[in-house]
Amino acid sequence: MSGTFAGGLAGLLLGAAVGSFLATVFARRGGGRCAWAIGRSRCDRCGAGLAVRDLLPVVSWLLLRGRCRHCGAPIALAHVAIEVAAAAIGFASLFLLGWPAGAPAALLGWTLLLLSAIDFEDMRLPDALTLPLLAAGLLLSLAQGGLPLSLGLPPPTAALAGAAAGGLALAALAFLYRRLRGREGLGLGDAKLAAAAGAWLGIAALPLYFLLSGLLGIALAVALGALRDPARRIPFGPALGTALWLLFVTG
Ligand SMILES: [Zn+2]
Repeated sequence: MSGTFAGGLAGLLLGAAVGSFLATVFARRGGGRCAWAIGRSRCDRCGAGLAVRDLLPVVSWLLLRGRCRHCGAPIALAHVAIEVAAAAIGFASLFLLGWPAGAPAALLGWTLLLLSAIDFEDMRLPDALTLPLLAAGLLLSLAQGGLPLSLGLPPPTAALAGAAAGGLALAALAFLYRRLRGREGLGLGDAKLAAAAGAWLGIAALPLYFLLSGLLGIALAVALGALRDPARRIPFGPALGTALWLLFVTG
C-alpha cells in the first residue's frame, strides 16, 4: 500500500508538532523536572511565558532568528533539528506507506529520533524508551494477525525470534568488546534497541540490519573524527535507530 502526497503533507505537519514536543522532552530530560508533565512553555533562561506564535515548529525559530523574543537567549540548534527531523519522518512514513501502515512507521521513527538524540548527547539509551519499543513491536506483530491489512511487521514467531536474536547478538558483541579492549564499547541499551529492531523487522532481516547499522556507525565515527582519536566514544544508538527506521519504511 502506498500513500499520497496529501497524506505525506498531513504527516509533515503532525511530525512538526510531535517534533516540538520531542524537542521539549529532550531539552528537559534529567533536569529534575518531570519531562512529561509539561505545563505552559517557558524560556529556559528568562522564564518568560511563551505564546503560540513562539511555539510554531521551525517557523517560530526562523522568525525569531533562533533567539528568545524576551531575553535574546539562543534557542538550542538541537531543538529545531529535532523538529525538522520529526517532520521529515512524518512525511516519509505517510507518503511511502499510506494509512494505516504509515502510523506505526511514524511512531517508530519519532521514538527512535528521541532515543538517538539522547544517546548522542548522553551516551545512554533509556529503558523507558527501548523497552516500550520492544513491547510495541511484539504487540503490533500479534495484533496484525487479527487485522485484514498489514502494518508492515513480521509474523509473531519471526518477531519473537528476531527480538531474541537481535538482543543476544549485541549483548554478546558488547561482552566480547569489553574482554578484548578492556573498556565499555557497547552497552546493554544497545542490546535492548537491537532486540526491538528484531521485533519490528523479523529475524530474516537481521543480517542486513546489522550490516546497515555497522556502515552508519562507521559513517558517524568518521563524521565525528573518532578514527583519529581512538579514545573518543561514539554512540551506536543513532546508527541502530536510523537503520531500523530505514529498513522498516522501505519494507
Ligand atoms: Zn528568554
